Amino acid sequence: MSTPHSADVLAAFRDFVARLDELDPQAPMAGELTVGLGDATERLPLRLPVARALTEALRGYHDPRERGNCAHCAGGRLDDDFVCRSCGIVNGLFGQTIARFVTDGQTPRQPELGGPRGISDGTLGD
Ligand SMILES: [Zn+2]
Repeated sequence: MSTPHSADVLAAFRDFVARLDELDPQAPMAGELTVGLGDATERLPLRLPVARALTEALRGYHDPRERGNCAHCAGGRLDDDFVCRSCGIVNGLFGQTIARFVTDGQTPRQPELGGPRGISDGTLGD
């Protein structure tokens, strides 16, 4: 059974292949691209430029829901609140500061600004 988006997805593949094939119609064939959605199937020639472009597009895609990996366990994915779905730790200094602020009800400490102690005039004591 086709979904409301099937026609759009299949048309996008078909248009993409046609657009790139038009630039280099003699490019070597790499295979065939078959996409099936619901009861509809699209079989398209897969030339090398299209294969390269699809690979680049798929690897370069960043989903806006992706918040990165956890720095603590290095494998867990972060949720919208930057909490690791695997270990439950709030990720990063910013996340930990916000978590401490929320749980303690305290104002987060400000980092010390300025140069080394005891040197206030910038002359290195000369
Ligand atoms: Zn984690």
